[in-house]
Amino acid sequence: MSVDRPGKLRRPPSATPLEELTLRGFFGVFRYGRRAIELVWRTNRLLTVLLAGLTVLAGLLPASVFYIGALIVDGVLAAIRAGGAETRHVVALVIIEGVLGAAIAGAQRGISTCQSLLRVQLGQRINELILEKALTLELHHFEDSEFYDKLTRARREASSRPLSLVTRTFGLAQNGITLITYAVGLARFSPWAVAVLLLAGLPAFIAETKFSGDAFRLFRWRSPETRMQTYLETVLAREDHAKEVKLYGLGPRLLQKYRDIFHTLYEEDRALTVRRDAWGFCLGLIATVTSYAAYAWIVVATVRRAITVGQMTMYLSFFRQGQSAVAAILSAVSGMYEDNLYLSTLYEYLETEVPPPVGTVERGPQPEDGVRFEDVSFTYPGELSPALENVTLHLKPGTSLALVGENGSGKTTLIKLLTRLYSPTRGRILLDGEDLASFEEGALRERIGVIFQDFTRYQMRVGENVGAGDERYFEDEARWREAAAKGRASDFIETLPKGYHTQLGKWFQEGRELSGGQWQKVALARAFMRTRADVLVLDEPTSAIDAQAEAEVFEHFRQLARERITILISHRFSTVRMADQIVVLDGGRIKERGSHEELMRLDGTYARLFSLQARGYR
Ligand code: ADP
Repeated sequence: MSVDRPGKLRRPPSATPLEELTLRGFFGVFRYGRRAIELVWRTNRLLTVLLAGLTVLAGLLPASVFYIGALIVDGVLAAIRAGGAETRHVVALVIIEGVLGAAIAGAQRGISTCQSLLRVQLGQRINELILEKALTLELHHFEDSEFYDKLTRARREASSRPLSLVTRTFGLAQNGITLITYAVGLARFSPWAVAVLLLAGLPAFIAETKFSGDAFRLFRWRSPETRMQTYLETVLAREDHAKEVKLYGLGPRLLQKYRDIFHTLYEEDRALTVRRDAWGFCLGLIATVTSYAAYAWIVVATVRRAITVGQMTMYLSFFRQGQSAVAAILSAVSGMYEDNLYLSTLYEYLETEVPPPVGTVERGPQPEDGVRFEDVSFTYPGELSPALENVTLHLKPGTSLALVGENGSGKTTLIKLLTRLYSPTRGRILLDGEDLASFEEGALRERIGVIFQDFTRYQMRVGENVGAGDERYFEDEARWREAAAKGRASDFIETLPKGYHTQLGKWFQEGRELSGGQWQKVALARAFMRTRADVLVLDEPTSAIDAQAEAEVFEHFRQLARERITILISHRFSTVRMADQIVVLDGGRIKERGSHEELMRLDGTYARLFSLQARGYR
């Protein structure tokens, strides 16, 4: 990965000539605008309507304040000339302006209340959308780094982005409305003044759009580096990694790597920021100069009595405030680029295609046939060589199978295929004489119980960790106890301070940490929760339990499994030898198969490994 060589990052792909054209860039800002509004609308209609109404109000009112202000100035001058006769009229106007001022303040406050409420709801809604989608994804999605990156980015900003999205979208609308009212007012003075107001802001606008576009591309292109930074943060600051990082003294090195990435990214940032601000200043000067030119123009017009003094104050306010509105629109637009970046990630994630579940079959035609692998091969997505090749197997109900082989020989992959976490690239797998692919998802899940070597250690109560084995009985204490007894876990669970209700894991107060072997017993108990599963798989979850206990557990499994199929992956031959059928995998292919006695007689790999281990015990 290029982060190893700071300063040598890939260049960002340069923008196409079309993208450089700011018009395209300008519309890019609004690409996700409609969807953003839709999202807000679906989150809370009432609040959205209220927010929209208040925004229009807050947009319209300022111009009326300036209009009344002009009437007041002219009224005062007239009253002075008339010797104080018109005072009541002027005071009435002041009261009206006061009421309008209060209305503006009320509208602003209302807007910020609506925004705060919407932000919280929108954050929750987006998080729910993200998690709901996550439930429908397939395993390979989580193993794809780019996809995983999308998911984490979408999740990380889900609580902050929505606010800025709502604020900017509505801020843009409000300033747009205000600007229109000023322009309409100013047009009565001179349409040219309107043109000057709008055109003076244009250069800065174009520059802003271009630089925002650059920032947008920069963000996208550097995503692998940011991902590495996030990962380093996790390694350096998470409890499950801390132990090893400390003992191996990796901290300073990893921190340095983290710094190097930052410095490289910072250089890019600095260049962009300096360029952006330099241009911003120069182009901003144009606006200042025109502002004063317009000032002079309006003053001269007043001296020449083309307009009244009151109108002068009004037009000047229109012009000045109009320029602020233009500036506010500019900054909203540049911010919307970032929101767009977020939304594009979010929608790319939410729109990830997941093939709909196709299977509908609840049970196969030959329940006595069990599991069959017919010439199954499988290659992981993106990999060149197959992890499994031409595997043919038959497991009858009531029998047990042990898988033996070096690390990486394909044992876990075989289980992933059997549980349909992946589908075979070639060949097919049958359960009760029916293709695995045809089974209805829930029906299939119920049939198969698996404990993987990297089983999940839920930071929940011990009992729930057992109950997780059967979602329907997640809270059923009687079943927890039964399963824990079968998994040899009840003895130690009963010594815990709150028994089955002891909280596990360090994330929570009073959370207890278990030893590796204790966790494995909990996992085994979890497998015993699946009383209805007729294929039970133990993928090396017993490596930290002593050999005697492992053998007992397996024996227990076999006895319980009179009508079931039990599959065991283990490196302990004392357990493996008890299986009815033993399969030796090598490089994804079946190398030897048979019972313990048959394989010993064959005098091949199995016999050699068995003798090696047996000698160690003697
Ligand atoms: P075992 O369980 O026998 O140790 P696995 O079935 O886990 O072996 O792995 C078999 C082969 O498939 C290995 O070469 C491994 O590198 C590869 N492999 C495992 N999981 C993945 C994955 N998610 N993506 C790509 N390759 C994988």
